[in-house]
Amino acid sequence: MHAVVQDLEICIIGAGIGGTTTALALAKQGFRNVTVYERAPALGFVGAGIQMAPNMARILTKLGVWEPIADDGVAMEFYSIREGATGKNMGLVDCSNIEKDYGYRQTGGHRATLVNNLYDGCVKSGVKFCFGSSIDTTLDFTGRPTFTVTTEDGQSRQVQCDILLGADGIKSQTRVALLKHLNVTAGVRETGQAAYRIMLTRDQMKHDPELLALLDGNETIRWIGEKRHIVAYPISQRSIYNISTTQPDVNFAAEASATYTTKGSKKAMLSVYGDFCPLVLRMLDLAPDEEIVEWKLHVHDPLPTWVYGSFALIGDACHPTLPHLGQGAAQAVEDGAVLSIFLAALPDASPININKALVAYERARKTRAETLVNLAAESSRELHLGVGKAREERDRQFAAMKTGVPGKVPDKVMDVDVHRMTYGFDCMQDARVKAVSVL
Ligand SMILES: Cc1cc2nc3c(=O)[nH]c(=O)nc-3n(C[C@H](O)[C@H](O)[C@H](O)COP(=O)(O)OP(=O)(O)OC[C@H]3O[C@@H](n4cnc5c(N)ncnc54)[C@H](O)[C@@H]3O)c2cc1C
Repeated sequence: MHAVVQDLEICIIGAGIGGTTTALALAKQGFRNVTVYERAPALGFVGAGIQMAPNMARILTKLGVWEPIADDGVAMEFYSIREGATGKNMGLVDCSNIEKDYGYRQTGGHRATLVNNLYDGCVKSGVKFCFGSSIDTTLDFTGRPTFTVTTEDGQSRQVQCDILLGADGIKSQTRVALLKHLNVTAGVRETGQAAYRIMLTRDQMKHDPELLALLDGNETIRWIGEKRHIVAYPISQRSIYNISTTQPDVNFAAEASATYTTKGSKKAMLSVYGDFCPLVLRMLDLAPDEEIVEWKLHVHDPLPTWVYGSFALIGDACHPTLPHLGQGAAQAVEDGAVLSIFLAALPDASPININKALVAYERARKTRAETLVNLAAESSRELHLGVGKAREERDRQFAAMKTGVPGKVPDKVMDVDVHRMTYGFDCMQDARVKAVSVL
């Protein structure tokens, strides 16, 4: 890489999974001047598990951080789908095939472990972090990008850089600024869904042998019912059982759309899942009342573009998704890896070529990310079916999976054709090939 390219000043807004991966990928390519601005006073959100798919693991391996993340996680042997009301097994996927075909298993992990390792990798590679630093929507995209940073003591200052990357998540201010600048609207799309996220410790589960068996098992389990489901898996070397639910959004529906999380009520949660089997109810009942938090599940309309001049969006800021395919964070990781390859291929530091590289990044990523957003929504429609012909057909498809005869798979996370597309695609290799012809 040319020295003038290596010294480009690159600013990233947001130290989530997308922002830290992008910073690390850029530093590994040889960029020497990468700064991440994060609103939170320290490494932010830690409170939930995450399913890490083979396409994410492959990139994190190349970035040198997968080993400690995998060591702390739990590699899944099986993915099983169960009827919520009875606990009956409806379908099963053997994940050892996934490892054979794609090199990695689906791994359940703690978000804190993931982000901390990305952060440590960044710091070792010379990335600078400014915590407690908020960005507002007053970005200037003309010429060198300029933005205002406000620190926790209320002081504001202007920062200019050569390349600005908005990795500020679903509530992205940089996306708002881009759309305003382009004079286009891409509204938040109501999904009508909300989620409780719960983490049970071994200590909380140890008195119930059936529950303990879930923690000691190697299975990601999805219990499904009408308009609702629960997905759960062990994380953190089986010291924690991570549970994420999806149910109709009633608590947020009446509130302002800016609200994304709210203190939940255990009583309300138990009543939503009241007709699920005793095992599930005992599991939910272990959650301490004061720890119940409900999340609104948002997506928004596809954006007309992710790029303007020397600015680009990354991750949930440009392709937020329902979580049912376990690909939201994986796609943010792919964004960072691909973007770093196009920028590393720059022949010089001119704004024209920077824009060319960012446009090439968008071309390489947008269709794929948006296809997976649509697949997650499709899965949600199938998983949440009520009594009727469509559900009978879906249950027949689940049952057929056990026979091994290829056919339609209603839960896309279990579908081998979808695996081929999600896990089998090496986005870094694809970007390397494309970068040669674009720049
Ligand atoms: C219930 C649920 C379960 C999920 N499960 C999975 C899963 O199993 N597997 C998977 O791959 N994905 C999963 N996802 C999706 C995944 O969490 C997201 O896609 C991923 O976290 C997006 O990363 P990001 O870096 O784009 O955004 P975020 O993680 O939201 O990070 C954005 C960062 O920007 C900071 N920020 C925001 N605004 C500003 C500002 N104005 N100034 C400065 N900093 C700012 C925030 O503080 C934050 O640190 C799930 C999502 C949900 C809701």
